[in-house]
Amino acid sequence: MSRTKIIATLGPASIDRVDELVRAGVSAFRLNLSHGTHEWHTHAIQKIRALSHEVGIMADLPGPKLRLTHVREGTRLERGAKVVLTHGEGVGDEHVLYVDYPRLARDVQAGERVLIGDGDVELVVDSVSGSDVLCTVVAGGDVASCRGVSLPSTRLGVSVPTERDREHIAFAVDAGVDLIAASFIRDEHDVRAVQREVQAHGGDVPVIAKIEKHEALEHLDAILDVAYGLMVARGDLGIEVPIERVPLIQRRLLMMCRRVAKPSIVATQMLESMLTSPTPTRAEVSDIANAILEGADALMLSGETAVGRYPVEAVRIMERVASETERSGELEGPVELEGRGMGVQQAISHAACILAHEVGARAILTPTASGSTARHVASHRPSQSVLSISESHATLRRLSITWGVQPVHTSEFGSLEHVLKGLMRRMRERGDVASGDLVVITAGVPIGIAGGTNMIRVERVP
Ligand code: ATP
Ligand code: MG
Ligand code: MG
Repeated sequence: MSRTKIIATLGPASIDRVDELVRAGVSAFRLNLSHGTHEWHTHAIQKIRALSHEVGIMADLPGPKLRLTHVREGTRLERGAKVVLTHGEGVGDEHVLYVDYPRLARDVQAGERVLIGDGDVELVVDSVSGSDVLCTVVAGGDVASCRGVSLPSTRLGVSVPTERDREHIAFAVDAGVDLIAASFIRDEHDVRAVQREVQAHGGDVPVIAKIEKHEALEHLDAILDVAYGLMVARGDLGIEVPIERVPLIQRRLLMMCRRVAKPSIVATQMLESMLTSPTPTRAEVSDIANAILEGADALMLSGETAVGRYPVEAVRIMERVASETERSGELEGPVELEGRGMGVQQAISHAACILAHEVGARAILTPTASGSTARHVASHRPSQSVLSISESHATLRRLSITWGVQPVHTSEFGSLEHVLKGLMRRMRERGDVASGDLVVITAGVPIGIAGGTNMIRVERVP
């Protein structure tokens, strides 16, 4: 399996193929709470958990995204035509479209842009009258039920988490998901607000900030400081900022995450053509390889696995491209160090990679309570296997989106010597190492304290 992690969005096309997807290389599933009922997602979670204790589950919150409600099938907006956006009950068509946001007419102003779907259909607001927003179609195309409605130049009177998000957070915490992705984050306060909501429900689920708003770009350091990791949510990002800026923003975000050893996810349209075709385009294959070379921890599939015709094939292709890219050896080497004085844990993780390289070790073992040491080791992209050992399944599943880390569950605790002996035996049995191999082990003494990593050992496997 590739060391780059693959996240697949579950949907009607994949709900009955969870095991196949995992065998093909998926290490975590995304549940898009914008779609499907809580009942559907509960069923999905049960399926995943029944299959494995190692596969991660990430719940993705809708955030303040406006969507069309029902639209008559076959509705097409022609360039130059007039269309009214409004709120209320009804089935939309080419004359009127219903948006699921009651304040729409209060928040938008004449001259502002409205984009539907992934930006393929564009309107401009002519005027507002009561609860109706009168628009002209600038770029025409098909529209369908539940399509997103983006207002890149409007200040919306809603913030993160929305009322709906709060319900989803309660659901997700209760259901025991491993990660929560928060949409339309503008700054660190938004992230904190989501985290507070998670805590209010008694959870400690880590929060991934989805970067897809232009405001977020001015607060990246502060956002990264409080978030567990970042997602480059290229779909809405490409609507919020000029599309040509997306590649450089991606590169910058991936670099920032790797520097602080926080997981990064690249999302949207990675294998878009595979929605309907069994083979990808050259451009898509290059996009996957480049994201990995830029330092992505995980790559995500959206519609490809949720509603596409070839969900398993898409994962297989992604896995093959990732494996080949990793074999090139171009990822290796410690990340550039700031020279500003590292913390003990960072320094130990860095040294472990150098040591493993020098002595030709087969694997780096990181017993971990929080997963943090494993993330730091992996951020150097060592060529050796990184085995993260924990007694907590939840900790191990959080690592399902971190590059190169393999989870090993253990219930063996005691003295360091005792734990090491047990571990080596397990590793040998699993085929991760063979008798006579050298392994590098990071550890914290006393054992089992989060953030307590303070030593490195080199051991020969008996
Ligand atoms: P986002 O902006 O959050 O990415 P999206 O609408 O683009 O939202 P994706 O997660 O990218 O959604 O998935 C692509 C499509 O797959 C969705 O538009 C939706 O039609 C479908 N889909 C995703 N999850 C589900 C689900 N649980 N049930 C039904 N359809 C789903
Ligand atoms: Mg989105
Ligand atoms: Mg999408």
